[in-house]
Amino acid sequence: MGFDEMDVDTIWMDGEFVDWDDAEIHVLTHGLHYGSGVFEGARCYDTDNGPALFRWEEHLDRLFQSAKPYEMDIDFTKEELTAATKALIQRQELPSCYIRPIAYYGYNSLGVSPKDCPTRTAIAVWPWGAYLGEDALENGIDVMISSWRKHASSQIPTNAKTSGLYVNSMLAGEEARRNGYAEAIVLNKEGNVAEGPGENIFLVRDGELFTPGLSESILDGITRDSVIQIAEDLGYTVHDNVSISRGELNTADELFFTGSAAEVTPIRKVDNVVIGNGSRGPITEEIQQKFFEIVEEAPDEYDDWFEYVDI
Ligand code: PMP
Repeated sequence: MGFDEMDVDTIWMDGEFVDWDDAEIHVLTHGLHYGSGVFEGARCYDTDNGPALFRWEEHLDRLFQSAKPYEMDIDFTKEELTAATKALIQRQELPSCYIRPIAYYGYNSLGVSPKDCPTRTAIAVWPWGAYLGEDALENGIDVMISSWRKHASSQIPTNAKTSGLYVNSMLAGEEARRNGYAEAIVLNKEGNVAEGPGENIFLVRDGELFTPGLSESILDGITRDSVIQIAEDLGYTVHDNVSISRGELNTADELFFTGSAAEVTPIRKVDNVVIGNGSRGPITEEIQQKFFEIVEEAPDEYDDWFEYVDI
């Protein structure tokens, strides 16, 4: 579904609310040429207690952390970005939506050095359902191991959510879709499992969970963190600092992706090898159900994961 079909009309740009159609930037913007932007992807859920930003503090913290290696000073405080986001949701009466804040080097000079370029900041919100489709959440997806490797964390900070990094994600994802798969798994430079193009990955084996550690060149996913906490609260042991070899994918009992967009998406086949029983596995289902129960009900135990928006 394209933006034209969505009922969204306002974007926040550098302190102003701008009509969606007028939210334009100069073609010589540094971030366009060199990928020098950092961004976030978060969700507002329509919980039983009202619309709420999910793990918003963590998303804002990651945005500011992502800016650090690029010496980018975001001109707005976290409070200002929160107020702008809430106002966008309120103005457009969007009780559940996806939220995309971005900060990037703007227009001034086109040397690789951004030192004369202003930092520009924008936030957009729009309705976005299941990223990989409703069917994917229930029945799982078929994925392929990409022939593209992930950048090593010695080459570029892979823990920063940087615009330029996503050409690697795009290559991997499009290669998978061209070959008839829904999504890719990307290996790191060492050949171990890193993550999906926009998702972290979990493996279930003998009733325990495993997910690649932060030194495996992955993004420190906020849904990854939520799922680790949920799984532990459900009584599972989670190994979150391990290397996972490619072959371990084939022999896993269950596999699933996590992400703010992808939420908790089961994986049923990798390169046409059936994983476990070839459908959503029981532990994946239990964690997925708990995740959706939490974002629907916003229960007291997880209250600090929610920042409410009055609409
Ligand atoms: N890895 C990559 C490369 C991503 O783009 C994302 C999406 N932000 C994730 C993992 C999952 O992170 P999160 O749960 O914070 O959305």
